[in-house]
Amino acid sequence: MDKQRRKQIVIAGGGITGLSTAYYVEQLCRAHAIEAEIVLVEKSDRFGGHVHTGKKDGFVIERGPDSFLARKTSIIELMQELGIGDDIVGTRSGISHSYIAYRNQLHPIPDGFMLGVPTKWKPFITTKLISVRGKVRAAADLVLPRKSNMEDESLGQLLRRRLGDEVLEQIAEPLLAGIYAGNADSLSVQATFPMLQETEQKHRSLIVGMLGVRKSRVPKQATQSSQTANKSGSGNGDGSTSTVKKSMFLSARGGLEGVVTHLEKTLSSSINMMKNTEISGVTHEGERYVVHLHNGTKLHADAMVIATPAHVAARLLPDESISKLLHTIPYASVMNVVLAYRQQDVGISLDASGFVVPRKEGRTVTACTWTSSKWAHTAPEGHILLRAYVGKYGQENEDQLSDEKLVHHVRRELEEMMGISAEPIFTEVNRLPDAMPQYKVGHLERMQELDDALANVMPGVYLGGGGYRGIGVPDCISQGKAMANKLLTRLIDMSV
Ligand SMILES: Cc1cc2nc3c(=O)[nH]c(=O)nc-3n(C[C@H](O)[C@H](O)[C@H](O)COP(=O)(O)OP(=O)(O)OC[C@H]3O[C@@H](n4cnc5c(N)ncnc54)[C@H](O)[C@@H]3O)c2cc1C
Repeated sequence: MDKQRRKQIVIAGGGITGLSTAYYVEQLCRAHAIEAEIVLVEKSDRFGGHVHTGKKDGFVIERGPDSFLARKTSIIELMQELGIGDDIVGTRSGISHSYIAYRNQLHPIPDGFMLGVPTKWKPFITTKLISVRGKVRAAADLVLPRKSNMEDESLGQLLRRRLGDEVLEQIAEPLLAGIYAGNADSLSVQATFPMLQETEQKHRSLIVGMLGVRKSRVPKQATQSSQTANKSGSGNGDGSTSTVKKSMFLSARGGLEGVVTHLEKTLSSSINMMKNTEISGVTHEGERYVVHLHNGTKLHADAMVIATPAHVAARLLPDESISKLLHTIPYASVMNVVLAYRQQDVGISLDASGFVVPRKEGRTVTACTWTSSKWAHTAPEGHILLRAYVGKYGQENEDQLSDEKLVHHVRRELEEMMGISAEPIFTEVNRLPDAMPQYKVGHLERMQELDDALANVMPGVYLGGGGYRGIGVPDCISQGKAMANKLLTRLIDMSV
């Protein structure tokens, strides 16, 4: 083998994971004076995958992610490196709570709830969301023994065991599992909210443990809002520097796709970026790989990253045991309906970041973000932007509905739950088939098996993205960075 030959890297999938892998590996190759040809291959006619912002009549419409957790800093660092750090915005001031829909009414999430665990007695005792029986059952957490082992279990299992069915079904599941469009009874607690299991092991009682966490934090900053990632999460800033610092959730003025366009611009001069190009398979060629494209051409790779959804990776890779492991990651199909209004037509004040809907309510809408209440940059003055979410794992029937019928259902439910009957200025339906990966019980163990199998069978091929080790955009960027380091190590190993 010619060790001095210019090396070739192929990255499959131009979502945020593939783009950030390309960005970091290009930097690393330059820093280590490694000559490499980097090719990023994207099936669709645009980069960004789920990170997709639309603009219409002064509204900024996020079709996929709308924000990111401020404590996950990989995206902040990336935006700063790209020169767009000043575009980072915090949530609007004065929006400090969200609601849960229950029997046609919106009830405030009781103050003090952290990761589905009550830490303030008065709001918990007075909430109408839980019956007296349910409250007494939740208090049993204070005396119940801890689980004797650290094996993985479902989020639902752990919370039902500690706090009872009602707290799980009425409050915790819509908030926590809602982030994954998932079912609490099948999501792995270790892969989604490991802090809950750690808290039980350390303090026995979740209530006692979370109370300690709340007291150790800055007052008011991280109680109710800390549990509601971004479907209806709340913060306390409005985009100025000081409020960006205080906000739990951040976004980008002009939309998150700004990160994608800046990455694309930065990368286009140094790597080969192919759009409208679908990969159909990968095969071995000695120590290297052949990447087969749908158009009949082939690329050669010394190392490669597959940053497509897991079910696509399962089709591309030639090894049956790897494909089988990849198929253990199911995806939920989701949709969202965006509705734009004139404030004067709506007539009610939207003083929160939105609401979530428990599964038992049997609604089409699973959550609704009051986008313009939360993010000042998303609607022109005097206007309102809402985003209603539809579909979750095991409850995906609505994707058969026409756009017209879907909008009709959503508007009817918003009228019943929020009292909005006004005619929207416009609506937009976004369909995202197989979009939300489900980290089922045992997920982390299976990810380790997957890494081990790949290292054995296809050394130099790495998998990353929302389906594997964190669904948030910052997690995907971190995975991209980690895979860039692996690619570099592989190229260095091949050169010696
Ligand atoms: C509705 C929704 C809301 C969300 N909200 C948030 C949020 O607010 N905050 C947050 O942090 N995260 C959120 N997420 C999660 C986050 O957006 C995703 O986890 C992340 O964008 C996934 O990025 P990715 O690059 O791993 O995958 P993707 O975005 O799925 O990109 C994969 C790419 O691979 C391409 N591809 C597929 N097959 C092939 C092939 N054969 N050949 C070549 N290319 C191929 C696809 O076209 C796509 O561009 C949300 C997700 C959804 C769906």
